[in-house]
Amino acid sequence: MTRALHPEPVALLTATLARARRTAPARPRAAILISRSGRVIAAPEVAGAAPSACAERMVVYEARMQRVSGWTLLRTAAARGPSGPPCGACLQVLFEFAPDLNLEWTGPGRVPERSSVRALLPGAFGPSALAEPASSTHRRSSLAGASRGRRSATKRGTA
Ligand SMILES: [Zn+2]
Repeated sequence: MTRALHPEPVALLTATLARARRTAPARPRAAILISRSGRVIAAPEVAGAAPSACAERMVVYEARMQRVSGWTLLRTAAARGPSGPPCGACLQVLFEFAPDLNLEWTGPGRVPERSSVRALLPGAFGPSALAEPASSTHRRSSLAGASRGRRSATKRGTA
């Protein structure tokens, strides 16, 4: 049921946690992002940046700057205490780039927990929500998603 972390990126995650002790001493966390091609991108949490700079978003920005795509796993670790899953703001950013990304988070002496972006952010707003339905120009209907469907389109003439 519980699997150990894959050993190869653990050293990179540990080294990035050491950086996080300097960049976010109150809450040192680090993240690595693993791509389908085997690339591993790492970033520490950065405190004092506005509005916030969670390790999850830092590693996404780093991967984007390095033009690494095809992300399959985001792993976060805390230097002390639990790491916790990504916050809502990070989940939104992750959803926009990789809605099916797998997530792992852990802390010292803790069993890694796992989920996915899609599981933690059900009904998320994403790029597909901006796609205009072919038969409707009513923006609200496309943002409301599949649950409201075409019903809004039939009311279009009354607005
Ligand atoms: Zn966050």
